[in-house]
Order: sequence, then C-alpha cells, then structure tokens
Amino acid sequence: MTQTVSRPAGGAHRPPLPLDVEAIRADFPILSRTVRDGKRLVYLDSGATSQKPRSVLDAERDFYENHNAAPHRGAHQLAEEATGLYEAARARIADFIGAAVEEVVFTRNTTDAVNTVAYALSNAATAKEPSFRRYAVGQGDEIVVTEMEHHANLVPWQQLCERTGATLRWLGLTDDGRLDLSDLGTVVNERTKLVAVTQQSNILGTINPLEPIVARAREVGALVLVDGAQSVPHQPVDVAALGADFLVFSGHKMLGPTGVGVLWGRYDVLDALPPFLTGGSMIEVVRMEGSTFMPPPQRFEAGVPMTAQVVGLGAAVDYLQGLGMDRVQAHEEALTAYALEQLQAVPGVTVIGPPDTVARGGAVSFTVEGIHPHDVGQVLDDLGIAVRVGHHCAWPVVRRYGVPATTRATFYVHTGYDDVDALVEGVRSAQRFFGVTPEEATA
Ligand code: PLP
Repeated sequence: MTQTVSRPAGGAHRPPLPLDVEAIRADFPILSRTVRDGKRLVYLDSGATSQKPRSVLDAERDFYENHNAAPHRGAHQLAEEATGLYEAARARIADFIGAAVEEVVFTRNTTDAVNTVAYALSNAATAKEPSFRRYAVGQGDEIVVTEMEHHANLVPWQQLCERTGATLRWLGLTDDGRLDLSDLGTVVNERTKLVAVTQQSNILGTINPLEPIVARAREVGALVLVDGAQSVPHQPVDVAALGADFLVFSGHKMLGPTGVGVLWGRYDVLDALPPFLTGGSMIEVVRMEGSTFMPPPQRFEAGVPMTAQVVGLGAAVDYLQGLGMDRVQAHEEALTAYALEQLQAVPGVTVIGPPDTVARGGAVSFTVEGIHPHDVGQVLDDLGIAVRVGHHCAWPVVRRYGVPATTRATFYVHTGYDDVDALVEGVRSAQRFFGVTPEEATA
C-alpha cells in the first residue's frame, strides 16, 4: 500500500507550532528508524507509552556503567553515589509538580500508585497502630469514581469495596464526552471516603474540571486522588493548585523509563496511612514479635527500588522543563485543533469525545463508519503509522458511547502537522482499501 500526500483541506488552521519539531525529533533515536519496509515512523501512541530522548537513555546507561548500587544501603562509595542520584531525582520530580520532596513516593507506575493507596485504606481498618486507622474504609463507606476512568483508577477501587464492604459510586458522562456533574452533590456525600478522578481522559481527551469536585469532597471530608497519567506529561500540574490529597502518574508516559511511577500525597495524609507492601528499606525496627515503619516516603518504598529508572525519570523531567510545560501544552493544543478539524472533515469519521478543543488534551479517538477500528489500525500500521485501537483500558467509556472500540491518536512533543496529515491520509486509504468511499460512508 502506498501513501499519497494531499494538501490539508481548504482553510486548514495551521498556526506555527510552539515547539521545534525537527530539533526535538533529532533527540529521539527511535524516530530515525523506519518501519514496514522503509516507511517513516509516525508515532501517534504516546498516550500508551512515550518514546525516550537520548538524555534519558544516557542517564540510565550512565547509572549502570558508573554508579550502580542499591541506594540507602551499604557503606561504600557506589552506594553513596546511587543514593545521591536517586534522591536528587526525587527532588527534581518534586519541583516539577510543586511538591515537598518527602511527599514524592516512587512506585512502578500509575497502577501501582493507585493500588498503594487502595490497599493502605483497607489495611488501615485492622492496623495495630491507632494513628494508621484515621482513613480506614469499611462497611457503609462510599468511594466515588467517574465513568471516564482508566481501569487502573477503577478496578482497584472495585476491589477495595469488595474487601471492605464499602460501596462504589460514580459520576456519569454527557453525550459530548464530558463529566456530568449534575448529581455531584448527591453522589459525593457524607458517606464518601475518597473521590478518585482522572485529570485528563486517556480515551476522550477531556480535561476535567477538578475544582468543583475537590470543593465538594472537602465539604464532606473525603480524600481526593487525581489520576495524572495523561495530564502530568502534557500540561503544567502543580499539586498546591490542585488541592487534592494524592496525584499519581507514570514515568514511561512522560519520556521516562518504564518501571517507575509516582505517588504524590499530602504529607499529613501519607503519614497517617499504613504501608501496602512491607519488607526491607521501609522499616524502623524489626523484632521477631513485630516491626515499626519509616515515615513517608520510605514507608511506601519496600525493597531495592528501580534506581536507574528513577534517575532516567529525573532526566525526562529536565528535558520537559527545558521545553517548558506551557509550550508543551500549547503545542499539543494546536495539533489537537488541527487533527479534530481534519478528521471531522473526512465523511464517515466520528470523533468520540469533545468535538472542539475547549478543556481538551491531545488524545483523539474516532470511529470510521463501515470499518472496524482494528482494521483501521492495521491499514495505518502498514503505512508506518502507530496508533492504538481497542477499548483503551476504559471499557465503560466505549460502552457508554455505544461503540465496540475506537482508533486513538495521541500527540507529544515530537508530533508535527505532517504526522496528523499522515493519519488523515491513512484513514482515507483505509476507506479506499475497504471500499467504503467517503460518499458511501455518508450515504
Ligand atoms: N490512568 C490513565 C488515565 C492512563 O491513561 C493509564 C495508562 O494508559 C493509566 C492510568 C495506567 O498507567 P500505567 O499502565 O502506566 O500504570
């Protein structure tokens, strides 16, 4: 299959992009490889996992080549250096989200961070230490999520409810892909112990209004956990401004390595929680009869941590800060506006999610009439275009909008208008390939 290049539709809105795409692409070694018999790699799957700039790869390699040791253990020079690099990365990541250093806990990823909180809340009920029981969840309590959550911020709460006898409630969605807050006042009520909500939907692109949710949670004394997996990589996020109790995100979605994520928690809340995983590195005193635990963040970092990955994430944060998160956000906004305009100009294409760029990030999900999303993905892949197809680990969302799956394109700092053009042209190729011409699609 060959790709024909077409000019953007008349009147296309292509303001200059805030980031220098060519210069940035040169920083990502993987973007210089070709795929599918020599085709340029058009990577539109950063929402699943981002590619890594050379500085991140170098930081990890340098750690293993020159400093590798277990941090916080051992009296030798390498252990000292590893500890220094690990803690320096924590300080950079804390600065990136406006947090205090001791409020940043390293986890494996967002999923791990959500589970750490969910298990801490259920373990709290039976904690021996009375100060750990403050946020215990039990029978009669309620946990509130939204219908927009990634499974990572849904299933752990379902499981918490099964373990404790608490009830799961949720806020629904409007037809245009936004949170329906009309029943916020009743869904979040005096029985609510925690509200877990995503800041940006991985499938719809919607950026949620957190202010009223946080305000309502505060009124009833509930904790708030914000899933920042799709927001922290793409927009400036400041935990003081958020006003929540927890923020969770993954390193691999923000130019960093896999295997490292972050659980930020307000210090007084973290300090009142029992650990989830226990073992080495998180204890104060261990006797055969029982043990006491370190204060946060160490209380939640059992075992030898993913040190090289943490150091790599520090380098990723440096890279993003070098670009400026305001510019990263503006860059993606321009691309999203262009992609929405161009895709919606293709007869037969329906965008699932907000149709405009108001409070919307760079995840564009769509269906193509008459072609299953997996087939769209297959044709795009043949053209060298990497997108994600399926339910995107947010099954209730595709069910809500009555589609089996979607095709999703996600943008990042190396994405340019040429990538969006390739996507749109690829969709037209899929329509030709399956004999669903635009005229037929709209008939
Ligand atoms: N939350 C959101 C909104 C996501 O998009 C994802 C991953 O796609 C996750 C949570 C889970 O992230 P991870 O698989 O890195 O734990």
